[in-house]
Amino acid sequence: MKSYLDLLKILPKSNCKECGLESCLLFALKVFSKEISPRACPYLPLESLPKDLLTPNLSFNQLLENLKYLKEKFKALDLREMAENLGAFYDKATHTLSLFYLDTEILIPLEEEGHPLDLKDLKGKELDPRDEILLCNYFLFKGRSPLTGNFVGLEAFPHSISKVKTLKIYAEEPLSEILSQPNIDKKLLFKEFKITQFKEEQGNLSITIFALPKVPLMINFWAGDLEDQLLPSCKILYDASAINYLDLECLVFLAERLTEKLRDYVSRT
Ligand code: SF4
Repeated sequence: MKSYLDLLKILPKSNCKECGLESCLLFALKVFSKEISPRACPYLPLESLPKDLLTPNLSFNQLLENLKYLKEKFKALDLREMAENLGAFYDKATHTLSLFYLDTEILIPLEEEGHPLDLKDLKGKELDPRDEILLCNYFLFKGRSPLTGNFVGLEAFPHSISKVKTLKIYAEEPLSEILSQPNIDKKLLFKEFKITQFKEEQGNLSITIFALPKVPLMINFWAGDLEDQLLPSCKILYDASAINYLDLECLVFLAERLTEKLRDYVSRT
């Protein structure tokens, strides 16, 4: 794809404004100048876009700007009050809050009034800004309802059409590739994560991971069958209350981040 005109060719040209812009032409121009994410148009077939247009979603400066704004709101929270609702542990003796996030333990030192001073991992290492954004959002949502134990696809949540595609491209398809690799020890692959359910049968897998204390993800993987021309596939499910803990963008990012971590593990071994 050489210019915005190539992108314009695959847009519906309906000027429906759902992306927040006046026209498809303006949208195509802004995607090429990285001022807007291509994911903002629910009708754009993401699979036909080159990777450099898809990533990063936001320029680094935009990402930092969002983080600055979120951190200001995050730092005004009293985390002691919401620790229990969010499955975090408040240690009165050290005046810190801790919680598990994917394969990492997060430690948050608090001020006297319970406001967070910082967001780091247990070893004091800085977090990736994208992880900071997700964690700030998790706290800002304040956990408004208990888990249901009922797992649903992302499509069950309102206004999720474009995100369902993103989840497929950035998490379900790469996960399927990882899990269908021959000789992969699936128990070892997930050993750093909080797992509550692990069923493996004839190459198929169903696993539930607490990506955050109140956001479990269920990964269902079918190994496929070459004789019957069935390809391997993967489906990620969320607890029906997940939308009360994170917005759709963050729910998708959580699955993407899990996939990245598994991919890193595979490339190291
Ligand atoms: S949402 Fe898509 S189709 Fe609608 S105006 Fe924006 S780019 Fe065009």
